[in-house]
Parts: sequence; C-alpha cells; structure tokens
Amino acid sequence: MILSGGTVVTMDADYRVLRDGAIAIVEHKIAAVDTREAVLAEYHSDTLVNCEGQYILPGLINAHTHVPMTLLRGLADDLRLDVWLMGYIMPVEREFVREDFCRLGTTLACAEMIRGGVTSFADMYYFEAEIAEATAQAGLRALLCESILKFPAPDAETYEDSLAYTRDFIEKWREHPLITPTVAPHAPYSNTEETLKRCRDLALAYNLPIMIHIAETRREVDDNLAEYGKTVVPWVKDIGLLDVNRVIAAHCVHIDEHEMRIMHKYNVSVAHCPSANLKLSSGIAPVAQMLAMGINVAIGTDGPASNNDLDMFEEMRLAALLAKVTPPDPTAVPARTALQMATRNGARALRLEQVTGSLEVGKFADVIVVDANPAHNAPHFDVNEDAVYSQLVYATKSADVRHTICHGRWLMRDRELLTIDEARVLHEAQVVAQEVGAFLKAREQNPLSKLIAVSLGVERAESFEVQVKAVIDRADIVEVLLNHEAVEVARTVHYKQYDTYFLFANESYGRVRYREDYRLDAKDDVAQVRTRLTYTSMDKERTFSDMILLSRSRFIAPATQPLRFYREYFQPASERILEKERRRWRILYKGVLFFVNLDRLLKPAMSDLYIELKARTWSLSDAEIKASYIREMLEILGVDRTKAVTQDYLEFAEA
Ligand SMILES: [Zn+2]
Repeated sequence: MILSGGTVVTMDADYRVLRDGAIAIVEHKIAAVDTREAVLAEYHSDTLVNCEGQYILPGLINAHTHVPMTLLRGLADDLRLDVWLMGYIMPVEREFVREDFCRLGTTLACAEMIRGGVTSFADMYYFEAEIAEATAQAGLRALLCESILKFPAPDAETYEDSLAYTRDFIEKWREHPLITPTVAPHAPYSNTEETLKRCRDLALAYNLPIMIHIAETRREVDDNLAEYGKTVVPWVKDIGLLDVNRVIAAHCVHIDEHEMRIMHKYNVSVAHCPSANLKLSSGIAPVAQMLAMGINVAIGTDGPASNNDLDMFEEMRLAALLAKVTPPDPTAVPARTALQMATRNGARALRLEQVTGSLEVGKFADVIVVDANPAHNAPHFDVNEDAVYSQLVYATKSADVRHTICHGRWLMRDRELLTIDEARVLHEAQVVAQEVGAFLKAREQNPLSKLIAVSLGVERAESFEVQVKAVIDRADIVEVLLNHEAVEVARTVHYKQYDTYFLFANESYGRVRYREDYRLDAKDDVAQVRTRLTYTSMDKERTFSDMILLSRSRFIAPATQPLRFYREYFQPASERILEKERRRWRILYKGVLFFVNLDRLLKPAMSDLYIELKARTWSLSDAEIKASYIREMLEILGVDRTKAVTQDYLEFAEA
C-alpha cells in the first residue's frame, strides 16, 4: 500500500521531515520513505491512501503499562500509592483477576491504544499468556512481561509458580512476530534478592530484557536504604539484575547522579510515566538530566488505573512540560525530544530498535496517520523546521489519529477499528465493573473485611477472652497474688501503649484499634516496638456472675503499614487516642495460663489504677472454668466486686 501526500515525520536519526511525502509498504515492511513524487515514480498499488492535510508518523510506543487494568479504571482515585495499591487494587485483583479478565482488559486497552496511535507497548501484569493472545488478535506489537512478586499473585501461589508460568509463557510465544514474552520482577520492594536473581537468570537464559519498577517513591528509596544500606539502583546492580540485556526501569523518579551513571553504564532504559507520577504525588523524574547523561528515556502511561488512560499524546505533552519545571528551564525536553521518547527511544527500550520506532526502509510498517488541521491545531507556520514537532506534541490530541497500521496490517481505518468488536468489549467491561463495584461496596461497609483485605498473607487470629477489670487502690496488692502459692509467674513485661481507635458512624460496624506497644526494659528504655491492629465487634458474648465477661470475638493482625495508611484506608468517622502504662505478668494459676495487667491511663490522664485478669479461651466449658479461677484470684487480691468495670477503657475514659 502507499500512503501519500501528507507530512511524513520519520523520526529517523536525521529527523527527516518530508512535506508532501509518501511511504510505500510491501507486506509487513516499509519499502520506501520519500517525497510523493519519488515514491509514486517507483511504486504502484491498488491501495493508494491520500494523506493530504495529515501527518504520517511512526506508531507511538507505550514503554510501560499494565493493560488489563483498564477494567479497574476509575475504581479508586485520589489516594496515596500505598492505600491505592494495597488497600484497593491488590485486594480487587486477588478477587477478580483471572484469565478472562486479562483477555477482556487487554482487548479494551488495545482498542484505546489503536485509537490513540499506539502500535507497540510494554506490559507487566499477570496471566501474560492471555494478554499475548488478546494482543496478537488485536494486531499490536508488545513486550509482555509476567510479574514476579514475593507475595502470592492472582496467577500464582508462590514466586516459584510465577517463574514456572513465565518459562512456559516464554517458550510458547518467543517465536511470535508481534509478541516478545519475558519476565518482570515487579519492583525491588516487592521482591527479595533471591527472586530478583531468579528473574535475572531466566532473562539471561533466553537473552530477554527485564522490566521493573524502580525508585517510584521517596519512601521506596528510604526503605531500601534502611534495609540494605543502599539506594535502589546500586542495590539492584550489586545483586546482578542489570547484567541482563536491557532493563526497562519504570519511573526512576528518585534517583541521583551516581545512580544515573550506573544506569548509563549498564544501558538501562527508563520508562518515564508522568501522569501516574503526578496522580500519585510520587514526584517528577529528572528526565532532562537523564537524557543529558545519555540514558535512553522512553515514555509510558503506566496502568490505566493510575493515569487513567493510555493516551500517549497526553504523556508526550506532559513529559515535555514537566521537564521544564525543576529546575526551571523552558528549553528542557523540546517537542522533538518528547516525540523521540515516544517513538525511537521507546523502540530501543523494548529492544525493538531494528524493527520499529521510526519510518525507515526495512523496518516493519508500524505507521499512524493523524489529522493535521483540526481547529485546535491550526494554522501552521513554516518559519521553523521543528514547528511540526510542536504541533504534534503540544496541540495534537489522540482523537486526531485517523489510521493505525501495525506490522503492515490495518488496525484502524478512518477511525473504524478493524480487529476489535468495540461495542461488545465496552459492554463486557461494564459488566465486570458492576461485579467489582458490588464487591467493593460490600467490603466498604465492613471494617473487618477491609482489615482482612489488607492483612492477607500475614498471621491473623480470632480470639475469645474471659476477662475482668477492676479499680484497685494500690499497685502493691498485685504482689499478694503473684506471691500466692497457687501462682507461678512466667514472665513480666512493662509497656507503654499508644492506641488509636477508629470509630465508624454505624456502631454495629465495630471498631479498629491501631496499637503501638513500646516494651520498656529495667531502666525504662524502649527495648522493642510492636504495632498491631485489632478489630473488635461490639457484641459482648456473655457475662459470668455479674462481672466476668466472655468478650468479643477479635481479629488481630500485625500492622505492617504506618498509622497514616490505615487512617486513609479505613476513613473512620472519628478517632480516639488512648495511652497507658501497663505492667503485665504472664502467670500460671493452678497450672492455667492467665495474664495480669496493671494499667494506668496516661491519656486521657486518670488517677485510678486498674487491674485486669484475662485468659484466652476456645469453648464455653473452658470459659466457665477460667471464669471461676478469675473469681478465686479476685478473692486473693481482696478486690470488691463493686469495683469491677465492665466497660472498655475507651468507653469509660470517654465518659
Ligand atoms: Zn507500573
């Protein structure tokens, strides 16, 4: 076929621009790129496409995305990265991400990308073999990277399963003309040294590139420093991850000059994702500096759940604009550079520089044709040779794309998708959205299920307790019990406890407590800090003999995130703070394990001293025996039953 009459923007090494140019495509490849006159003198075709008033460009390359996440587009927005990812996206992914989800989400993404002039993309997700099927069917070119995590993934219980899956995936797809299958350790923080090395070995065995998220947030860098004593790039270099033939590092927002030198030396390509970095407040990647150091920087949209689209025209424009902000320099990343990042640099990042990324004879015909004269892009000047790049980067919209051709095949002609039944895909996507929405709505009303959703993979336990709490006059009466002949003291600890309670508008939702336990040593110095989350339902199970409670079923999980995370995630109606000093003895009374707590409330400050006697239990008959032992211990202590308190500290502190 011949596309003729438009402005051909080749993006080749000489940045040739041919006004009234043409390209000839023979089978899958570009046979000629020249003026209309020269091409028509040499080539004839029944398919002669008039491109007057249009730009003819290499197809754009989206260097980093997660295409099936189109189905999660708009699900949870305006949240911090950790809350967004661990609180919403990952729990929903565990529940919904299956083969058909990935196929459908990929097809929707391909429809969007074809409409937006993207002909190649690099993906990192789960069930990549399904993504490969859908991509090949849509006719796009892709580097598809199966994600490896140290935690269970939607398509694998363990990372060994993920690696086995990846190996099969690579074996099955590596000869495909459009698809390059490979491996993607998700990020250093979501992997271990061992999993990263195994990914590297797999990539080396097949001579494939690796995709990974690097230094997306400040916190990631700080955590890496705390854990390994190095920032992210030197650490991945030292464990040998950069030894593979090309690493595509997504984001690279928080990297310094030393890290850039390492990346340059190891030929690492960067996938700059401006929208996602802005939306999640991750920061602005030092793109101008990386380019100046000779690093190959490409552009990616990141997943459509954090962007929220796959619009490479928008990303190019943002890449050019953001680079001018810090340090302030309007000459940084000019329009031509931005277009190069989205085309030739993208091809190099994906190791497809021999294949695509520019309009050159011998490369595959990945070509888009874009309307040059819509109202938002008129008029045109011919004063400056580079004006065409400004038009394309600063004024062109993805909706201006008229034709998309990949591998010599029409994917969209006159804005009609030729490989995808778009109406069907949009309908099916809405059906999935309704299912996901129903799941989240149900979960949002129940703090316990929200807690479980972010505590997966960690130890958790539901427990029942028999307990009594009473006011005492003096601390030393505890000694009477501890020295009693039926008592054996197993362990003594001294804590300061800082509790934050999340309360919900509907009391029946129960409450969530975030507790920081500071264990103090003999000199009252902090010996250990532990943070835990406890969910308490508001039901009191049973009362024994007017004061001993068989208490609430509770759900306890280690708090692996900061308090701020849980506050943003649970969005409580209100919060209460409770601080107390606690001395705790683990004792055996008649051979049965009990805990004795001697508590003083520091905030709100209260002068009373409280004693708590409690034991875990698992059956009603067990609870009854333990309740009778607690009664005996109260008698030993000489505690009057009128001094018993059946409320929580929180409740009577409030009163
Ligand atoms: Zn990403």
